[in-house]
Amino acid sequence: FKSKLPQLGTTIFSQMSQLATEQQAINLSQGFPDFAANAQLVAALADYSAQGLNQYAPMPGIAPLREQIAALIQRCYGRSVCPQQEVTVTSGATEALLVAISALVSVGDEVIIFDPAYDSYAPAIALNGGTAVHIALHAPDYRVNWQQVAAAITPRTKLIIVNSPHNPTGMVFSQADWLALQQLVLQHNLYCISDEVYEHMVFDDAPKLSANNFTALAQRSFIVSSFGKTFHVTGWKLGYCVAPAELSSEFRKIHQYVTFSSFTPAQYAIADMLAKQSAQVQGLADFYQQKRDSFAALLASSRFRLLHCQGTYFQLVDYSAISALDDVAFCRWLTIEHKVAAIPLSVFYQTPPHSRIIRFCFAKQHSTLQAAAEALCQL
Ligand code: PMP
Ligand code: GLN
Repeated sequence: FKSKLPQLGTTIFSQMSQLATEQQAINLSQGFPDFAANAQLVAALADYSAQGLNQYAPMPGIAPLREQIAALIQRCYGRSVCPQQEVTVTSGATEALLVAISALVSVGDEVIIFDPAYDSYAPAIALNGGTAVHIALHAPDYRVNWQQVAAAITPRTKLIIVNSPHNPTGMVFSQADWLALQQLVLQHNLYCISDEVYEHMVFDDAPKLSANNFTALAQRSFIVSSFGKTFHVTGWKLGYCVAPAELSSEFRKIHQYVTFSSFTPAQYAIADMLAKQSAQVQGLADFYQQKRDSFAALLASSRFRLLHCQGTYFQLVDYSAISALDDVAFCRWLTIEHKVAAIPLSVFYQTPPHSRIIRFCFAKQHSTLQAAAEALCQL
């Protein structure tokens, strides 16, 4: 049997969460909240199921949810999108990314991605016969050098995948970044996939920008987001993709045969939530900024050096004052010996840098962060 993905093993998120469970370690590795979602949201899921809404949803998503997504985009970014033709509900952002990549990438196409890159991009590109062209971002601030991007564009380049706020670094695109991206996309007739799953977690009053803010870019983009992140329900696997009608139509051709449609009662529950509690979305940045800051305060006396986090729920730390182990070995050691699990950064690079940096997820109850910090401060 000839594998289509010969280099690929199990994702680092499964590996580290499994090790954390085996070791009874505090799991700051895989990104998910350890606190409850909104009680009304959880009750609404059960209610809709009890009411009998348990059969297939319409293929592109239920109309009320698509309308609420369009309204959210209007509120956040002032852009008007058509819920019927331009919004598709998906089974998480992961499905949306795979489908968008499959809609765009053919054999021989090149796709520019930025390392450290979320780990689902490269396999999806490879499955479609494309080639990922990796551009490395560097500590401490992981900014994109757009001249380097321009130099990497060839006649085969089809697509640029961006992710802001960026997992795992917490880097957030500025207005200048978006404009530079837009210019390259237009100049070279490229497409863009904008992975915005952390869109509502931008800190320190920085402007919250999206591909939705840049009209010409949005005309050539698949914009992907996830309710798992926004409503603390990663296990519901509900997300969406916004793209112009022609692109959405191609997207739906594939979505209909990947899953056909997504979990029905969750779509109704999230639609209600968006209609009634839009303040929750607005309050998310403050909520996570407080967690970022209290985790930083708890680690202040440790020998970890914290890198700046502008957005997401991830904190990068440099551990070079503590250990000379490489980051994969260090994460295993930390989990087994000190009962705190983290994610190594090198696994998200084609050519790993020699830095000693790992990622902690701070989407956790204060008591969890406190217990983790207690162990980390002893190193
Ligand atoms: N993109 C990024 C950058 C992510 O961090 C995640 C979640 N870990 C996803 C996509 C996938 O989102 P979902 O859980 O909705 O599939
Ligand atoms: N996106 C999550 C993270 O970065 C994990 C998602 C997954 O486990 N596939 O930790």
